[in-house]
Amino acid sequence: EAEPRPLLEVRGLRKHFGGLKAVDGCSFAVPEGTITGLIGPNGSGKTTVFNLIDNTITADGGEIIFAGEHIEKLPSWERAHRGLGRTFQITRLFGEMTVLENVVAAQRTFSLSQLGRIAVSGKEAKAAEELLEFVGMRAFRDQKAHALSYGQQKLVELAQVLMLDPKLILLDEPAGGINPVLIERMAEMIRELNSYGKTFLIVEHNMPFVLALCDPIHVVSRGATMASGTPAQIQTDPAVIDAYLGD
Ligand code: ADP
Repeated sequence: EAEPRPLLEVRGLRKHFGGLKAVDGCSFAVPEGTITGLIGPNGSGKTTVFNLIDNTITADGGEIIFAGEHIEKLPSWERAHRGLGRTFQITRLFGEMTVLENVVAAQRTFSLSQLGRIAVSGKEAKAAEELLEFVGMRAFRDQKAHALSYGQQKLVELAQVLMLDPKLILLDEPAGGINPVLIERMAEMIRELNSYGKTFLIVEHNMPFVLALCDPIHVVSRGATMASGTPAQIQTDPAVIDAYLGD
């Protein structure tokens, strides 16, 4: 059986902060069509890897290959334009804008002076409303984002990311800080989007969530990938248990 081709491949990725080797030769692949997990102890470099993949911060070295092309020299907006979407651990909605405006805003490049003065076209509003419907937040479309609970903000952020119709969606802690019912809904939405062809790379501390959802799973330790495999392989890997799952 042929392996699906990697949609994203990271090779020898490096980022040092002064003397701290936050990401230190990290290599892994995200096969097309998968929900791939990235796990590892706190401080092992997972969020920094995300930041390097979308160029929130610039890598010191290494290769990032997306859809068969090197993207490590491209600015963030160009990576997004090519189909790389991401959410952040701390949501980044514009509090003074409505839910609908936030989702529409996701597909625009703004100057700061335009913020809060968005003319939303009918076509954009329709697309945004469909996505809000999908994440279960349509009823909140005219509320200011700051009035939402943390979990609701995460759902709106997912709608925002989808507005750009990304091929690959990087999710930073989608199950973090939300209630068990919403965690289950989040997993269902990810599975449904995956069935529509979206590929995911997920950083998450909630181990039952990752083990039920992700395959393959890559384990990062001290800025490098120490193991990769199926959930069953990861759970029984002595090195992984020793470094991570055992504590
Ligand atoms: P994880 O997401 O696995 O918890 P991070 O990528 O957030 O790990 O952090 C990896 C290491 O890099 C940590 O020691 C963290 O303190 C450090 N680090 C992350 N971002 C910065 C930064 N902007 N400046 C300095 N150190 C950082």
